[in-house]
Amino acid sequence: MSSGNINQKGQNRPQQQPQQPPRQNPPPPEPAETESAVSEPRSERKATLAILGAGPIGVEAALVASRLKIDFMWFEKAQVGDHLNKWGHLQTHAPAKTMVSEIGLEEIRKNNLEEFLVNLEEPATGKAFRDGYLSLLLETPLLSGKLEAGTEAVAAGRDNRLREDPRGPRDPVGPFRLYVRGPNNQEQHVLADAVIDCTGVLATPRPMGKGGLPAPGENACKDRIAYCVEDIPGADRKKFADRTVMVVGAGVSAATAVTQLAELAKEHEATWVVWLSRRNSTLPVRRIPQDPLKGRDSIAAAANHIACRPEGNLEFHSGAWIDRLEPQGNDKPVKVFATIGGKEQMWEVDRILSLCGYQPSRLLNRELRMPWETSLDLPPTGLDSREQELNPGPATEEPGWYVLGSKSYGRASGFEVRAGYRQVRQAMAEILRVRLPEITKRLAA
Ligand SMILES: Cc1cc2nc3c(=O)[nH]c(=O)nc-3n(C[C@H](O)[C@H](O)[C@H](O)COP(=O)(O)OP(=O)(O)OC[C@H]3O[C@@H](n4cnc5c(N)ncnc54)[C@H](O)[C@@H]3O)c2cc1C
Repeated sequence: MSSGNINQKGQNRPQQQPQQPPRQNPPPPEPAETESAVSEPRSERKATLAILGAGPIGVEAALVASRLKIDFMWFEKAQVGDHLNKWGHLQTHAPAKTMVSEIGLEEIRKNNLEEFLVNLEEPATGKAFRDGYLSLLLETPLLSGKLEAGTEAVAAGRDNRLREDPRGPRDPVGPFRLYVRGPNNQEQHVLADAVIDCTGVLATPRPMGKGGLPAPGENACKDRIAYCVEDIPGADRKKFADRTVMVVGAGVSAATAVTQLAELAKEHEATWVVWLSRRNSTLPVRRIPQDPLKGRDSIAAAANHIACRPEGNLEFHSGAWIDRLEPQGNDKPVKVFATIGGKEQMWEVDRILSLCGYQPSRLLNRELRMPWETSLDLPPTGLDSREQELNPGPATEEPGWYVLGSKSYGRASGFEVRAGYRQVRQAMAEILRVRLPEITKRLAA
């Protein structure tokens, strides 16, 4: 039996190298004669750019930086494409070709890795896209050895001032100082003139209680709650088949769960789904007008259809606010209390899928002056989210800090990977202080 992996096209590929070991710190610089070098602590590293996160946008940022010969450090809390792995069993909403970039494809082809490339013409699972695109790029000379996996960017500040220090327009702006924690809790500070933060939002799901807060009892029932779409038809089937399942939320994730549970109920007739949505609308899922991701729109439409039909294994309640949860002990269902139209109702459920969306973590940037209240943390009101390319960029009081990728959309979903690839080019143009067409020209050279 071969020890190789089978790719989507059924080809054997050599066993993939284990995740890149975290790069060792370069040896401390030789003592230099200049004053500034002598006064620097020996453990600090410096680069023009730090890239945080290795999802699709982080990988693209690293590719572009490499091609533009910008020196950069690159930190990833877990492993490349870790958030895609979280939904590794689900399909992308569009063919994989809509999730790849031209330069990514060029690098894969140039390095004879094309045979392992994910099938671009079909939607791919999150895992297949990770293995058949992002991981391949890490094997190319441009990126090989660059990613410091297992290294979390924990906090960021400015080197020469605190958040609360008064700052005038002419005050010098020092580099960013990042506190990163690697394997074995190895801690270090690194300095970077610019930071591209593409750490995504999937690590910070929103709780299900009233006011966007955890519901009393939510914590105590954690072992019965998943904050992502589990593998309902596959590995997690037993948790759902012939069980009472509550789905909370009305986004695409909730729609995906509901459609998969409805399928499961065809085989397992005792499966019962209680679907709660906060919004007062008979159609739970808001469809994006002319959604370019057709798969996403089909799921939304199918879930809305299921919610409206009188027969089936599902009850749908709009205008529902979760009040509290009560555990009843091992192997017993959880009690969920919710208010609907001013009346309290209670269900006993075996499993809860809390799919109330995600929010950007504020922890990383807490020592910086970020415009959270006005933009990042809120849906881009008044703007078609597709127009919100680069956010916040120069609008922030922290020039040089770029929030890109899904995190740049804050609590709003609807981000498309391709928009993130454009953001990367805009950010690089600002970092190099050139115009966008110049970046395009340099990348093509
Ligand atoms: C079922 C499904 C289907 C989809 N289909 C499509 C589609 O067809 N087309 C499309 O355009 N989009 C699609 N998307 C959305 C798309 O996958 C995401 O928008 C995209 O992955 C976001 O990329 P990102 O790089 O911004 O963030 P992420 O992919 O979330 O990556 C963030 C990375 O940062 C790391 N990280 C987090 N915190 C830190 C830290 N403090 N320090 C260091 N690293 C950190 C994480 O481990 C992770 O690897 C789909 C999503 C789902 C769930």
